[in-house]
Amino acid sequence: MQSPWVQRTLAIIYPPRCLGCGGLVENTMGLCGDCWRDTSFIAGLTCGKCGTPLPGESDTGETCDDCLRISRPWGAGRSVFQYRGTGRKLVLALKHGDQHDIVGPAAIWMARAARELMENDTLIIPVPLHPWRLLKRRYNQSGLLANALAKRTGHQFCGDALMRVRHTESLDGKNRDARFATLTNAITANPKRAAMIEGRNILIVDDVMTSGATLAAATEACFTAKAAEVRVVALARAGKDT
Ligand SMILES: [Zn+2]
Ligand SMILES: [Zn+2]
Repeated sequence: MQSPWVQRTLAIIYPPRCLGCGGLVENTMGLCGDCWRDTSFIAGLTCGKCGTPLPGESDTGETCDDCLRISRPWGAGRSVFQYRGTGRKLVLALKHGDQHDIVGPAAIWMARAARELMENDTLIIPVPLHPWRLLKRRYNQSGLLANALAKRTGHQFCGDALMRVRHTESLDGKNRDARFATLTNAITANPKRAAMIEGRNILIVDDVMTSGATLAAATEACFTAKAAEVRVVALARAGKDT
């Protein structure tokens, strides 16, 4: 813990900046008023599989159109905000900009969004990046999020529970069917982590859920490794209109 004096001094040398626009803010937690309003945080009634906001107020385990049509092998899923406006900016900064300041606040938001998905024995793991891409990018942004979420909630974290078994082309610009075809069997459980996964409740963390193909492949890999239950949480949910 930093002393108040150190905190004050740091605040003078490095005044806290907004994660969205870089403007000065009053606390280190995040976003200026404008960027906060421009972030589509998800609240109210949501799809139980992906966290997309739904119209209406009942909470009887509703499912969005996408999740009715597309295979969602996991039990339940949540997302923090929609992939647009400041939310999109934050995800892209984390992915491509080496902007890791967002990880702390993101862990707090994800802990809140996924609180009903975690049990005492939950193991928190990231969607895996292929080693080549990891080499290029130097870090797995979902791994950073998963690790921070585990620290925040006191759950066990495993960064290499899942692995990519073959290099897959970038999913950018591909339609849903192509994404699913590319990813089928592209993810497997790490044999060294088999004992950790078997019988466990798993929470898989991803930065953005778009088609859900990556999360579906990751979920199947956990079930193949005999996980008891698999749930997912994404920082951002990219819907049809994004
Ligand atoms: Zn801002
Ligand atoms: Zn859904």
